[in-house]
Amino acid sequence: MAETQQPSDIARETLRQLALRRIPPTPDNYRTLYHEIAGTVALEGFPERALKGIAGGLPRATQEQMRFARQFDAAIGEGSWDGIKTVLSDLLAKTAVTPPNWGGLIRDLLGQYEARHTGTTPAMKRDTLEHVLSASGTPDILFGRLQSLAKNWAQGVAAEGALLEAAAATVAVPGSGKPISADLQELLAQLLENTLSVLLIDTPDLNKEATGLAADIRGAGTPEQIAAFTGRLKKFSYRLQFVAEDQVELRSALLHLLQLIVENINELVIDDHWMQGQVSVVRDLVGQPLNLRQLDDVERRLKDLIYKQSTLKKGLTDAQDRLKAMLASFVDRLADFASTTGEYHERIGVCADKITKANDITELSDVLDVVMQETRTVQLAAQRSRDELLEMRARVQEAEQEVARLQDELAQTSEMVRHDTLTGALNRKGMDEAIEREVGRARRRNAAMCVAMLDIDNFKKINDSFGHDVGDQALVHLAQVVRETLRPQDTLARYGGEEFVIILTDTALDDAVNAMVRVQRELTRKFFMHRNEKLLITFSCGVAELGAEEQPPAALKRADQAMYLAKREGKNRVVAA
Ligand code: GH3
Ligand code: MG
Ligand code: MG
Repeated sequence: MAETQQPSDIARETLRQLALRRIPPTPDNYRTLYHEIAGTVALEGFPERALKGIAGGLPRATQEQMRFARQFDAAIGEGSWDGIKTVLSDLLAKTAVTPPNWGGLIRDLLGQYEARHTGTTPAMKRDTLEHVLSASGTPDILFGRLQSLAKNWAQGVAAEGALLEAAAATVAVPGSGKPISADLQELLAQLLENTLSVLLIDTPDLNKEATGLAADIRGAGTPEQIAAFTGRLKKFSYRLQFVAEDQVELRSALLHLLQLIVENINELVIDDHWMQGQVSVVRDLVGQPLNLRQLDDVERRLKDLIYKQSTLKKGLTDAQDRLKAMLASFVDRLADFASTTGEYHERIGVCADKITKANDITELSDVLDVVMQETRTVQLAAQRSRDELLEMRARVQEAEQEVARLQDELAQTSEMVRHDTLTGALNRKGMDEAIEREVGRARRRNAAMCVAMLDIDNFKKINDSFGHDVGDQALVHLAQVVRETLRPQDTLARYGGEEFVIILTDTALDDAVNAMVRVQRELTRKFFMHRNEKLLITFSCGVAELGAEEQPPAALKRADQAMYLAKREGKNRVVAA
């Protein structure tokens, strides 16, 4: 078999051979045949299942944790004790700030104190110990010194019984005859004692079991003890699996809660086109199985929503309150005015009556006095109302200006948010942030990353033939198809007009080109419909892989140049920079 074989190829060949040779497909038969085909040696005593149980319980919430879990899985998959040792050593080196294990240290110290050593008497040991105890300052320093002391004494043991120690340092795994080194024993113990205890903080009995297992493996010297340990480790890993399942359930409950919130946000948001669009994007995101990057995205979009909603709501509430106050005072004045004129008409009516019945000029003169008096009152009221109305009009104008100003402000606010109003893709600001974030991630993990620049072909024609609104809908359709076709971790940004940029993480040039060709193909299947007519949208695309030292704008420029090349070569194609 070729050396370049992938594990999946070997697995496939194994299954084929099982069928061909008519061997029952039991796990043991599968394993033997797998190793025969792969040309590797099966480690009979390797507790793969037990270790897989542990791996299943490992947290995978952060990049760091996922990387560790992956490496741990790989080492188990290879059946490699050396691999496990390397992975654990790396982890422990990284988490060197674990709290000092006083219990272990005191146990060690007592053990060494009581053991016999050449060149040291119990009295000398006591002196040294007292010296260390009286001289040391902080608990950390004391811990370090006591640890060295225990180590020094232990080395004395090694000097005395080198043969015995050598025998104890490598103990056999039952059934395999393969030894586990003392280093690995210690690492396993530390994994159980330090690392797992942090993870199992909510399950004290499992935590206690892990500590017990750590003591077991530390003290295990004979194959029988190792076998007993393996048995307990297996049981422990089964219980760990349950914890992992609980955590999965917890996660899905949280996800459900998040969905609930997002669905109900719709009820809360002011009827604003942009916000409705954002809510539906968030809802779509939450509807998929979440990964960390998507959660990031959801969080950012929700923040944008909250920010915009709060500005919008405050501005509108203020303007509304002011209009209401004006309306109220206007109605008051109107009522005032109406009652004054009502009385006036009444009194004028009385006067008119008196006027017709008036017999002499003095009588009439009295009535006219009353009329004059009444009219003056009404005039005053009318004058007051007129002034009031003029003032009101000025205030309405002011309010209108205020609303216009608020709208301007909102437009600026929209620029502060990171998503394009029409398509829901990131805008330039959002894109710059996303690129910076992804470049950082790629460089930290030494992973490949590509940018693609996409420009719709003959877009003007769509606008000219069907109108600008249809053009807009075509842009929305394209963005939708890109999002549906690419992986969730790929990011779509609207670069301008009918040009889009796509950030493809963890992707080398060839794969990025293939991904964009896949989008092209999808567009020929998911037509853009206008009045029951299928309109084919095509695009030209340039793809560039970010160089090790390259700045993102330089990569974008190369993608842009490749895109123009695609246009020149006849459009509807993808060109690699
Ligand atoms: P090609 O790229 O294949 O060379 O041809 P094209 O027709 O797409 O070329 P060009 O880039 O010159 O035209 C782009 C047109 O896109 C011009 C502009 O009116 C239109 N456009 C830009 N932004 C929008 C938008 O937001 N909505 C709509 N409906 N049209 C837009
Ligand atoms: Mg263009
Ligand atoms: Mg174009």
